[in-house]
Amino acid sequence: WSHKPKFDYRMAVHSGGKVPLGIKRKGLRIVVTGGAGFVGSHLVDRLIARGDSVIVVDNFFTGRKENVMHHFGNPRFELIRHDVVEPLLLEVDQIYHLACPASPVHYKFNPVKTIKTNVVGTLNMLGLAKRVGARFLLTSTSEVYGDPLQHPQKETYWGNVNPIGVRSCYDEGKRTAETLTMDYHRGAGVEVRIARIFNTYGPRMCLDDGRVVSNFVAQALRKEPLTVYGDGKQTRSFQYVSDLVEGLMRLMEGEHVGPFNLGNPGEFTMLELAKVVQETIDPDAKIEYKPNTEDDPHKRKPDILRAKELLGWEPKVSLRKGLPLMVSDFRQRIFGDRKEASS
Ligand code: NAD
Ligand code: UDP
Ligand code: UDP
Repeated sequence: WSHKPKFDYRMAVHSGGKVPLGIKRKGLRIVVTGGAGFVGSHLVDRLIARGDSVIVVDNFFTGRKENVMHHFGNPRFELIRHDVVEPLLLEVDQIYHLACPASPVHYKFNPVKTIKTNVVGTLNMLGLAKRVGARFLLTSTSEVYGDPLQHPQKETYWGNVNPIGVRSCYDEGKRTAETLTMDYHRGAGVEVRIARIFNTYGPRMCLDDGRVVSNFVAQALRKEPLTVYGDGKQTRSFQYVSDLVEGLMRLMEGEHVGPFNLGNPGEFTMLELAKVVQETIDPDAKIEYKPNTEDDPHKRKPDILRAKELLGWEPKVSLRKGLPLMVSDFRQRIFGDRKEASS
């Protein structure tokens, strides 16, 4: 899972190898698939701020132009409406491949499309990486561990996944995407990186995207009860989006293939999460129990030792610090300038 490049990557991608290391580098040309989505748009902000040229490729299934509109007019930014299931010809140095619905509600909406996006979409982007010699980063997921029998989960764990369940289009899809990525690496020499992302939250998540943090925050702001599925004792570990973006960029720029867990090890039951949301937004918010969804993993927590040691990365933003940042964004989007926005 570790790979030392045979040549200096940064020399190769800049000026045909004429610029020695240490000399100020020119911006890279980078594709971000799914760049109009939640995580992708935050990544694009960082890349543009660093001086790179960014091409966002997105079919707007769950992404929104509003997430990247502030870059319109910048000559280093381009937005292409394109479905990654179709081939795509571009000339770039790096590919961050994020295109794929991430919320269970969205990925179950059209499971066959989710599989195609994960398999054919990833194949196309790997084919592109191979053709132009670009470095390719796959955003995989903690869901590859399924309903884990190891806790916390290490990258060496092979997982406990139902291949024929309602979540399989996503978790088996991502597992195949990882396989394709490693096969292009071994077979065609493509430089690849694999991130296994754990539950991430922050500004710009879809208001009604069905994931637990966005649901609870939107519900508390709208004075609706917080919907806890099942007994609420299942756990997740919640990472703030800026920590994830930092990890993705370190992984891309570093020399290790991975896979790397990128997540915040702070573990919460859904009832504990509801309590933090109540404390942050509305102590009187009620809780309403609803039946849980099929194949819901009972617990999830990343072991991040590998990322700490090899990428020098660890999350910095706790749930109690990150949640208020997301709440301001949700408040603004739900209420706009109405009076409740300041209450
Ligand atoms: P998101 O739904 O906000 O973003 C996904 C983006 O991909 C959207 O802009 C969507 O329009 C686009 N997209 C979907 N299918 C496409 C297709 N066929 N062609 C082109 N564009 C397409 O989700 P997110 O939370 O930003 O997730 C980004 C990536 O990170 C995904 O690959 C997801 O699997 C992975 N991930 C996210 C989390 C998380 O908690 N946010 C956890 C694990 C993995
Ligand atoms: N592909 C792409 N853009 C490119 C190069 C390839 O979309 O710049 C697609 C191509 O259409 C194919 C996939 O990536 O479906 C895999 O390409 P590869 O060259 O690895 O395989 P082959 O075309 O030989 O099957
Ligand atoms: N969940 C919940 N209430 C909601 C949405 C989700 O209790 O309104 C639970 C869900 O059953 C799961 C956990 O929260 O146990 C995380 O769900 P999410 O969809 O956010 O992400 P997952 O980790 O399952 O992909």
